[in-house]
Amino acid sequence: MINERVPVVERILGANERLAADNRARLDEAGVFSLNFLASPGAGKTSLVEQTVSRLAGQLRLAVIDGDIATSLDADRAAAAGATAVQINTGGDCHLDAVMLQGALDVLDLSAIDLLIVENVGNLVCPANFALGTHRSVLVASVPEGDDKPYKYPGAYRGVDALVINKVDLLPYVDFDMEYFQRGAAALNPGLATFPLSCRTGEGLDQWLEWVTNMTRHFKTTRGM
Ligand code: MG
Ligand code: ZN
Repeated sequence: MINERVPVVERILGANERLAADNRARLDEAGVFSLNFLASPGAGKTSLVEQTVSRLAGQLRLAVIDGDIATSLDADRAAAAGATAVQINTGGDCHLDAVMLQGALDVLDLSAIDLLIVENVGNLVCPANFALGTHRSVLVASVPEGDDKPYKYPGAYRGVDALVINKVDLLPYVDFDMEYFQRGAAALNPGLATFPLSCRTGEGLDQWLEWVTNMTRHFKTTRGM
C-alpha cells in the first residue's frame, strides 16, 4: 500500500509546482515583487510584517497575505500597519500551498501593489516543501528558539534567500551562541543574506529594510517599471 501512496504524493507536489508557476507569472506580469516569510510559531513574522509595512508604506505599495490555521489576528495587524491585507485560514493545514495563494491573489488588485509579503503558517517543516510562486523566501528565526535550529531543520534553512534573526535584544538573557547558529546556517546555505535585528527595539531593522527595498526596486527596474 505504501508503494501506491508515493505516486499520489508526487502528483500533488507536481500539481502544486505548476500552480506556483502560474502564480509567479501573474505576479511577474503585474510587477509585484513577493516574499514568503517562513518561521516557527512565535518567532516574530507578524512583528516583522508590521515593522516592514509601517516603515516602507511611504515608498512602496504593500500588501500582505497571512496564512494561519485560524483567526484573522495577523491580517488585522498588517492592515493596521498600513498594508492591504488578506487572511487565509487553512482550516487545520499546517502550511500554505499554491492553490491557497492563488485564491488570495484573486481578491487583490495586483496592479496597485509593489511588494507582497506572504506570511506562511508558523511551522519549520512542510512550508519549505510547498512552492507558492513567490520570488524570494525569508526565514525568520529568533533568539529564544535556540541556536540549534539550523541543525534540526536543515530543509527550511537550505531553501531560503534571506535569514532574519529576530529578538537580538534578548541575547543577554538567553543561551544563544550566535557564532554556532550562523555556522549551522552557513553550512546549509553559504552566503545567505543574514539580518540580526529586533522588531521590539528597532536595532538592525535599517539593513533589513534596505535589502527589501533594493530587491523590490531591482525587480521592477529589470521589468522596465
Ligand atoms: Mg503571525
Ligand atoms: Zn504542512
